[in-house]
Amino acid sequence: MFAILLFGYSTLSYAQAPRVVVTLKPLHSLVAGLMMGVATPQLLLPDGASPHTYQLKPSTLKQLQQADLIIWVGPALELFMVKALHSVQPRLGLITVLDIPHLQTYPQRHGRQWHDHAGHDHGTVDPHVWLSTDNAQIFVNTLSAYLTKADPLHAKQYAENAKKLTKEIAALKTQLQTLLAPVHKQPFLVYHDGYQYFEKEFDLHPVGTMMVNPHLPLSANGLNVIKTLIKDHHVHCVFRETEFNDNMTQQLGSLSVKIAELDPLGTRFPPGPENYAKTLVQMGTTLRECLERKSN
Ligand SMILES: [Zn+2]
Repeated sequence: MFAILLFGYSTLSYAQAPRVVVTLKPLHSLVAGLMMGVATPQLLLPDGASPHTYQLKPSTLKQLQQADLIIWVGPALELFMVKALHSVQPRLGLITVLDIPHLQTYPQRHGRQWHDHAGHDHGTVDPHVWLSTDNAQIFVNTLSAYLTKADPLHAKQYAENAKKLTKEIAALKTQLQTLLAPVHKQPFLVYHDGYQYFEKEFDLHPVGTMMVNPHLPLSANGLNVIKTLIKDHHVHCVFRETEFNDNMTQQLGSLSVKIAELDPLGTRFPPGPENYAKTLVQMGTTLRECLERKSN
């Protein structure tokens, strides 16, 4: 009788493994690693969509309404979520990554040329926090504790997965440090200010961004500022990105710079536990290959 009751209980609980929805692919990857053997989390943002500009669809809203736990970065990145979150009440709650205690956050930089604006903090947080492996580790620790409490039946699995992830994240950090050390002094420009966490963790030397606001097109004046920046700082490498449809190649056509493409949202790799490391290694490799061309 007792055994049957136990069996019944565990079956019921297994069927109730939490339905977790995560907005961004790289974060979804970490969640997938943590939930391995328990359930597969759902990914909200489709490939090719920018979290900055995404418009909520009825199907996305439905996904959110059916979730037990929702994980998003926060209003500084995913404006489309703010309204949606008014109409959902996930059983196990909501995790706003930007609010995680001890997570390293930096203020959003301003202007095109960053060293001119050092110290100006307008109070807006830079939301691209997942590009720091230290933050990835803090995220995993927090989520592991959260899931253990919310779903104690799978506590052992969460603990084992968290341990494995911790090792993988440490190895990833070491790999990226080795990869990027030879080019850390090389100046470069990015398309939008989305890489601060990666740049700081790996001691890179960006001089500025093409776009001050990724929602507004580049003006003729802005383009002139960029061209001057490229000349003054001897920039030979500019990074466009998968997330935005720009015509940078055309605009910079007359300058002798190399243009490479960064993919901070991991669109080149399938969703799943391996996406996070693959995405960061790919970014590191792209930076290294472009920047080491003309080291002097
Ligand atoms: Zn961004």
